[in-house]
Amino acid sequence: MADYLILEDDPLVIKILRHLISLNEGDTLKSASSRQELTDILAAGPAITAALADLDVPDAPNGEAVDDLLQAGVPTLILTGSNEEETRRRWLSKGAVDYVTKDGRYWYPYAVRMLKQLHLNSQRKILLIEDSAVSMMEMRTMLELHQYSVLEAYSSEEALEILAVTPDIHLMVVDHQLPGMNGLELVQTIRYQYPDQLLAIIGVSGVEGCRTQLTLDFIRSGADDFLAKPFNLQEFIYRVNNNTQTVDAHIQLRDQAEKDFLTDLYNRRHFITRSKCIVDQAEISPVSLATLDIDFFKKVNDNFGHHAGDLVLQAVADAMKNLLKPLLIARTGGEEFSILMPGRNSGEAFQLMDALRQRIADLKIDVEDGDILSVTVSIGICTAEHSDLSSLMNNADEALYRAKLNGRNEVVAVSQ
Ligand code: GH3
Ligand code: MG
Ligand code: MG
Ligand code: MG
Repeated sequence: MADYLILEDDPLVIKILRHLISLNEGDTLKSASSRQELTDILAAGPAITAALADLDVPDAPNGEAVDDLLQAGVPTLILTGSNEEETRRRWLSKGAVDYVTKDGRYWYPYAVRMLKQLHLNSQRKILLIEDSAVSMMEMRTMLELHQYSVLEAYSSEEALEILAVTPDIHLMVVDHQLPGMNGLELVQTIRYQYPDQLLAIIGVSGVEGCRTQLTLDFIRSGADDFLAKPFNLQEFIYRVNNNTQTVDAHIQLRDQAEKDFLTDLYNRRHFITRSKCIVDQAEISPVSLATLDIDFFKKVNDNFGHHAGDLVLQAVADAMKNLLKPLLIARTGGEEFSILMPGRNSGEAFQLMDALRQRIADLKIDVEDGDILSVTVSIGICTAEHSDLSSLMNNADEALYRAKLNGRNEVVAVSQ
């Protein structure tokens, strides 16, 4: 959730910006047309996530209100009619995030995109690998101004340690000359060790003379971009922004391919691909696999409608996520789900699945038209020391079938 603010006295500009800033559920957008109004908004709270601000409003013609925003720690983009280089430089050095001139309508979408990025950036982790404390500080300051979460490593070895325990790093900035393993080798190592990780890498280097060769080497090693030192920090941040946006687009596409839209659980294809890798590892033994099916689900649709059925599916999926969090869970069919439990023997798997069965039976599901529904599930489990995925799945299905025959709302476990 984000709370945006526009500081602007021209109603037409406010109208354009309000139109362009499409808010997500829970977001708010306030506008102030004077310094006084801004003071009131800041005092009333909540904290502003990011602001677009004009330098000249009636009771503060020289940016005094923007100073207030910066003092209050609000990430602020300046949107102004003045494009004097000196003014621009002064405000950027005071800590404004960017300086956009209102000299054409194409700047508005840019400013709005930047504003929204500021909100998203706080969830994006960036790892800097740099042995110069000065460069490190400059980059960190710029990235933090843009609200990124920054991690630091002073050597390649340290970077690899951080990466091993932080799987959600969005982007890395890798210096070439480092003590120990150099930047190029680090990029090669990462691309080899984490071939599937959606992670952008920008190479940087101050090596003189052979810049073209180094750019080529970095890109060939798996970097997405390269910057020669010393670089302009504004260019640096633009390249970081572009690369993180590309990574986000890839993450979104991957999620769409791997996940079920209704429940946000993994889909059947992803479950099979991931489970195969896990089951095939000889050192993981035993492995239990469960198949869960909602009892008489067709009746929910028939009696309460398809939308109620969808809400029941979501409630069951949420209960599974809450109870089984680190495990691989998927919606493998219409009202059928699968759970992989590596390392769990038959007794442990039974206990966990029976707790899930009970948890689901206890749910009171509000299907939004005055009805509160309860459902039960039947679960089949197969446990094996060494097996292959398809026999585990087939045997779990058999066990599920027996649970249904036994009268439903039951867990049946078999061993292979
Ligand atoms: P049993 O206890 O034997 O499993 O009975 P059942 O009624 O649950 O099983 P059946 O296979 O006869 O019906 C499953 C129903 O699930 C039929 C199908 O329309 C419904 N279904 C499948 N996917 C969805 C979905 O995404 N949304 C909704 N609302 N219903 C779905
Ligand atoms: Mg260096
Ligand atoms: Mg069913
Ligand atoms: Mg079914």
